[in-house]
Amino acid sequence: MDTREKIRILSDSAKYDVSCSSSGNSRQGKQGALGNAVQGGICHSFTSDGRCISLLKILMTNYCIYDCAYCQNRVSNDIERAFFKPEELIDLTMSFYRRNYIEGLFLSSGVIKSPDHTMELMVEILKALRIREKFNGYIHVKGIPGASPYLIAEAGKFADRLSVNIELPEEADYASLTPQKNRELILRPMAQISRKISENTEEKRIFRYSEDFVPAGQSTQLIVGATPATDGKILTLSGGLYKAYGLKRVYYSAYIPVGTSALLPKLTAPPLLREHRLYQADWLLRFYKFQTEELVSPDENLDVNVDPKTQWALRNMHLFPVEVNRASFDMLLRIPGVGLISAERMAKARRLSPLTWDGLKRMGIVLKRAKHFILVSGRYYGSFSQDPDMIYSALSERKDEIQTDLFDKIDTQEPAIRIKSHVPKLIQEPVPLPGKRAALAGGES
Ligand code: SF4
Repeated sequence: MDTREKIRILSDSAKYDVSCSSSGNSRQGKQGALGNAVQGGICHSFTSDGRCISLLKILMTNYCIYDCAYCQNRVSNDIERAFFKPEELIDLTMSFYRRNYIEGLFLSSGVIKSPDHTMELMVEILKALRIREKFNGYIHVKGIPGASPYLIAEAGKFADRLSVNIELPEEADYASLTPQKNRELILRPMAQISRKISENTEEKRIFRYSEDFVPAGQSTQLIVGATPATDGKILTLSGGLYKAYGLKRVYYSAYIPVGTSALLPKLTAPPLLREHRLYQADWLLRFYKFQTEELVSPDENLDVNVDPKTQWALRNMHLFPVEVNRASFDMLLRIPGVGLISAERMAKARRLSPLTWDGLKRMGIVLKRAKHFILVSGRYYGSFSQDPDMIYSALSERKDEIQTDLFDKIDTQEPAIRIKSHVPKLIQEPVPLPGKRAALAGGES
């Protein structure tokens, strides 16, 4: 098999890992236009200093001795297989880099022979790239669950980012869906990486010259929709992982229906909208001081029709409208349509003069959403007299009726015929903010 064929097979198999930021689009080149888009191959990611870089995203091999029911590369799946010898992958990376096609490497692999054997080969690639080839580009490498701590530590010396995928939200599902793995095999290397990163940070404080260990931190991936786990369960797990292991990112990967197991749901398309709402909720938990139980509805799921912050606001209409000139900073952050930077701009600007409707517009606040939840110098600009059902209807993207394919067009002009079915979910059990209501609401009553 020639190198081109191997790249085709192994970059295609790598597309199921979403721990790089861009995955998913596929578009043919067309006459008169420049370029095309393919799902596998070169993807984009962000370095620790925020630069967007292109990476060769590839598997060392898609042979795997494991049989994870949700994975394309499982041993029981009849697919084309390929394997890159370490030297072939080193040459490929260096030649792509020299031609300026890529700025780094995202390397993952199926498990061949044993986790240690696989990890040894990956470490061999990393070592040769860094020491022999003096490759100074970005490298993100996957830790193989079950590999010895020594090999994980070696990989961490040469990689910028190291990640071990947790995959399943609930421990109970491992036995049936990924019988050769368990939570412990995944959490152990995660804990080791986290500990080594802390030690390395401490070392650097004391010694001027010390080796790096995973300077861009660790991340993980969670599959969404392959098991009945609710959004609440998924977000609680992510919150725990961020806290316990200092992860840089948890990536949510909508389950692509590649499995044949009767235990897997029969989806016609990956639940991409659910994945999107989980990313939004994850952001709210990390940067907007929300708690998981505030964001999910009583059935522990997010409504895909509106963003999670709007869902929370509609369940808590007793806190709105808030006067933007007097609300606390924490409450500004909770207004739908107001982002972190906009809240900072509002807080800064109102020290000089009262905020105005035009001023809010210029600050980039999404007034189409925010207007239903704010007062600007005592004036309410919303059109539905604070009726949560009407606001929901106006803001709903009505996406739960159909689970669309990634590039299906969604007609948002149709009347929102299913609104009533959502009403009970929205008006149940407001979640109060203990002891904060008056302060957060900026004294409005
Ligand atoms: S170990 Fe990884 S590559 Fe192998 S079947 Fe499981 S998820 Fe797929």
